[in-house]
Amino acid sequence: MKHYDYLIVGSGLFGAVFAHEAAKHGMKCLVLEKRSHTGGNIYCAKIEDVIVHQYGAHIFHTNSKRIWEYVNDLTEFNRFTNSPIANYHGEIYNMPFNMNTFSKMWGVFTPEEAKEKIARQRAKITGTPANLEEQAISLVGEDIYQKLIKGYTEKQWGRDCKDLPAFIIKRLPVRFTYDNNYFNDRYQGIPVDGYNAIIDKLLADADVLLDTDFNRDREKYKAMADRVVYTGTIDSYFDFCFGKLEYRSLRFETEVLEEENHQGVAVVNYTDRETPYTRVIEHKHFAFGTQPKTVVTKEYPAEWTEGMEPYYPVNDDQNQQLYQQYAQLAGQEKDVLFGGRLAEYKYYDMDKVIESALAVTDKLFV
Ligand code: FAD
Ligand code: UDP
Repeated sequence: MKHYDYLIVGSGLFGAVFAHEAAKHGMKCLVLEKRSHTGGNIYCAKIEDVIVHQYGAHIFHTNSKRIWEYVNDLTEFNRFTNSPIANYHGEIYNMPFNMNTFSKMWGVFTPEEAKEKIARQRAKITGTPANLEEQAISLVGEDIYQKLIKGYTEKQWGRDCKDLPAFIIKRLPVRFTYDNNYFNDRYQGIPVDGYNAIIDKLLADADVLLDTDFNRDREKYKAMADRVVYTGTIDSYFDFCFGKLEYRSLRFETEVLEEENHQGVAVVNYTDRETPYTRVIEHKHFAFGTQPKTVVTKEYPAEWTEGMEPYYPVNDDQNQQLYQQYAQLAGQEKDVLFGGRLAEYKYYDMDKVIESALAVTDKLFV
């Protein structure tokens, strides 16, 4: 059997970027992927001529010139800017939290009026916010917390906002301008040919085995290469010896609708507690599509159990402590490198995953 320099477990962005950089330096790589396609969670399918983000809406955004140039060298990006709306029991608000949201919520017009409203509503939070609820009220006040954050967050994470880390809500911008851009980053867009075009380029020089789970026969696969790059869940690598880390999973319900334009925007967040899904995605709007039909996906959050995809790490104190135990073991593992969202148990966006893979390869291949 052929011998490789690197065995890469997982064909998501981390594994694929690693493979590309390794190949540039003459290394032979074998990529193992347990799904029946490459790309991990950025994989896209084509339905009714619409590019469908199979594992949830993926909008590329970054502040890093290096990363923006890196992905643009691989494929062309469009000018999509994410401006989702929130639907709270039929009331529509602009996201992220900005003057359009405040104006609709309170009838205010100036930034000063909005700031006054929020200041009054957050007066009860003193000191550093200890959890997501306190952080949210401190950022945008009680009304917005109740209508746009509490229900959505408790559905998404299956936990009370008081039991979730504050950093999750700090992902969203709060602005006192009439600007509905969901991200503050300097660069943003969607690949014109879908994300598969990126992954295909990154993996062009590697050998790939699909439908192959590394953890089923670790010793056999390890023997095929000098070193291993592992991007699966860290607890499964160690056979859950300290116990299982928690993840949030999702169930996607996709349908084709016989209409041209269903919701007028790519992403609608359902922020009330009663609607069972958190988001509805209308995929064609990521690419300004004009196809006669449309494809929509409802996103239902779920607790992760064996056999489901572990989409989000649950970075609360208890899980973080458990992760640290695994991270210590990982540090002692000879010739195995752990990277990406699952192996680092980290809520990474795409640009940050690429950045972290490049930080590793920059050091390895000089
Ligand atoms: P993954 O994509 O999870 O890849 C890991 C791969 O390893 C998978 O293909 C998996 O099947 C494989 N694997 C695991 N275990 C094994 C094994 N034992 N053997 C073989 N193969 C294995 N980021 C953004 O920047 N913008 C967004 O808008 C955005 N939206 C998102 C929406 C959702 C619903 C989710 C879940 C994530 C979103 N992200 C977004 C984050 C983005 O998906 C990740 O940053 C990125 O895909 C992580 O890449 P990765 O390689 O670390 O992990
Ligand atoms: N969030 C919310 N209301 C919304 C959108 C997001 O309360 O309408 C909160 C929720 O807790 C979510 C977090 O903000 O988990 C981060 O949102 P983001 O859109 O970044 O989530 P992702 O795309 O990573 O699922």
